[in-house]
Amino acid sequence: MTIDDRPRIVGGGPKKLLYTVDTIRRMGVGKAAKALTAHNTCKACAYGMGGQKGGMTNELGEFPSVCNKSVQAQSTDIQPAIPNEAFLHPLSDLQQLSGREMEKLGRLNTPLFKAAGADRYEPVNWDFAIAHAAAQLKVTDPNRSFFYSSGRSSNEAGFVFQLLARVWGTNNVNNCSYYCHQATSEGLATTIGKGTATVELEDLTGADLIFVIGANPSSNHPRFIHMLKHCRDRGGDVIVINPAKEPGLVKFAVPKSPTSMLSGGTEIASDYLQPRIGSDIALFKGLMKAVLAIGAEDRSFIAQHTADFEALRADLEVVSWEEIETITGLSRTAIERVATRYANRQNVVFAWGMGMTHHLHGVENVEAIANLALLRGMIGKRYSGLLPLRGHSNVQGIGTIGVKPVVSEQVFVAMEQAFGVKLGRAKGLDTMAGLEAAARGEIDSAVIMGGNLWGATPDTAFASRAMAAIGFKLFLTTTLNRGHVHGLGAGEVLILPVTARDEEWSPTTQESMFNFVRLSDGGIERLDNVRPETVILCDLAKLLLPDSPVPFERFKEHRQVREVIAKVVPGLEQLADIDVAKREFHIKHRVMHTPEFSTRDGKAHFVVTPLPKAAAPLTLATVRSEGQFNTIIYEEQDSYRLKAGRDAIFLNREDMAAFGVRDGQRVTLASDTGRMEGTAMAFDLPRGSALAYYPEANVLCGTAVDPRSKTPAFKSVPVWIEA
Ligand code: SF4
Repeated sequence: MTIDDRPRIVGGGPKKLLYTVDTIRRMGVGKAAKALTAHNTCKACAYGMGGQKGGMTNELGEFPSVCNKSVQAQSTDIQPAIPNEAFLHPLSDLQQLSGREMEKLGRLNTPLFKAAGADRYEPVNWDFAIAHAAAQLKVTDPNRSFFYSSGRSSNEAGFVFQLLARVWGTNNVNNCSYYCHQATSEGLATTIGKGTATVELEDLTGADLIFVIGANPSSNHPRFIHMLKHCRDRGGDVIVINPAKEPGLVKFAVPKSPTSMLSGGTEIASDYLQPRIGSDIALFKGLMKAVLAIGAEDRSFIAQHTADFEALRADLEVVSWEEIETITGLSRTAIERVATRYANRQNVVFAWGMGMTHHLHGVENVEAIANLALLRGMIGKRYSGLLPLRGHSNVQGIGTIGVKPVVSEQVFVAMEQAFGVKLGRAKGLDTMAGLEAAARGEIDSAVIMGGNLWGATPDTAFASRAMAAIGFKLFLTTTLNRGHVHGLGAGEVLILPVTARDEEWSPTTQESMFNFVRLSDGGIERLDNVRPETVILCDLAKLLLPDSPVPFERFKEHRQVREVIAKVVPGLEQLADIDVAKREFHIKHRVMHTPEFSTRDGKAHFVVTPLPKAAAPLTLATVRSEGQFNTIIYEEQDSYRLKAGRDAIFLNREDMAAFGVRDGQRVTLASDTGRMEGTAMAFDLPRGSALAYYPEANVLCGTAVDPRSKTPAFKSVPVWIEA
């Protein structure tokens, strides 16, 4: 489908600019300026701003790179403390608050304790909190616990977190990527032998075509839009593949560009394909068939640097154009048109988001993207390659330093040698497996660092049941969210208030989606009773593991943690003196400017990806709004999608007519898992597709996971409209 409604829809623009200015004003201009320009990594997405170049500056040194998402994240941290009076209220009161209202309560500035059977939290002191947490863990069998971290925490806190768990006796260590990009790690491992982006930010500046697949960076990675605009300005193409026609990807009024602002926005997408939800593998097969028909494959690259091409070619011959058109809902002409654009370009970057990974076949989706790129030799050279658009600012780093159920034997051995300990090798539980074990009554304690695990989990009734069944929950957090007041059950809960990144007592590091490690100075003082996560974990370790040879007390100083990480985790050697040298760096052997693949035979592998079973007549994808970051809700209305409220149910207009549903009508969307009432809104979607906001629509999502990545299918849920 070509862009047919360009004049009417636009992202960014003066309203967004005014909103950002207003948010800064509400924070206080002085406080906001200090927070936004200090030498700390941006707290929101993993695109890559800040660090030693200073806030609002990207890896290329471009300043000022103001970003609404970054401002929103800061606005939360700059809030005053939640008044203690709030804790006089029973949980039943707090449970009435929306996600946004919870966020707006303020910063948590006291440890909170809920006794077994109690109906409310009470503020407690740190000594009690740490001693009680250690006592509870001491009576827990480590195998009946799990440790979960979001991507907010630093590399240093993450390393200590997983070390504490493993030395204590469990590998049940996981992170939020099991709900987002784990399929990327798995799909890239089979094809190119590594699990992260093959490009650095600079590669985007020379690409002449950028694919944006299953992602909405106008809301989720705002500064990436500038790279897309630059690509168009250079005469390049941007091809968007997304079932939903996202306004911000059609036109975007770029605040830094007066021309863009005054002209009502710059065209972002050169071409916009809207396949049916879940039909991407068929689309990629169609694109590859067309590339082969044109004869635009890179035969010499395929011969020298890849394996299994003939199996791929044979598979593409079997699938018919009729099948591809039926599955995708796209015409052969449209697919061939995009394939021709691809065939004519020399430097192509493939960027994708959770529209690819949130399926039961998420890994195969990623493998199919890699196939498409390899076909024209677009991996392993400058200005070309693969770019998974990662969510939270350090989600990639948390995985790199070992917050995952399995680390390599090399890392296990290195940790054992570094500390003189013996670590178990049993595979730990991933996130969903941990919750399923909890629901079966097999988890007694959980340590949860950041995030909103209850809210992020599919099937909200299941999430409540599973979390409630955990007898002791220990949360580390900067603010309260709905996950701190729902799914608590009758057991004990401790919530410990932590410093935000720019308040850390000693510098920390983070890793961007471009494999770039940044240093954050920390040091800003806002609240008087918060502590760094590493300090809390080390104090806990002292009581839980008093005889451990691991020098936890020393690890309160982050430099000591970095020195160990540099010895233990391959590629992070430069971490050892990063705070002295102030030299931020790309992790070795990740960015690929030559075709050297990390597979056993050194070649990239084409993978035959089977077509998934046909999508349901009406399939739901959960999505984020402009005023949201992961589970955090900053604004109730989505300024990029018709000012929709959080309960919007977006439908194709013809489907609405067929269902007898009017625009604005209250309807109930149902699935095998649950029901959700909301307001029907017509949106530019293919027939048979529906969108609703995450995490509210999690009531509809099932707990089945992609067997390879263990990621739930948040973006392909069979649903129907109830009468
Ligand atoms: S694009 Fe991402 S990293 Fe950059 S400022 Fe915005 S939220 Fe932060």
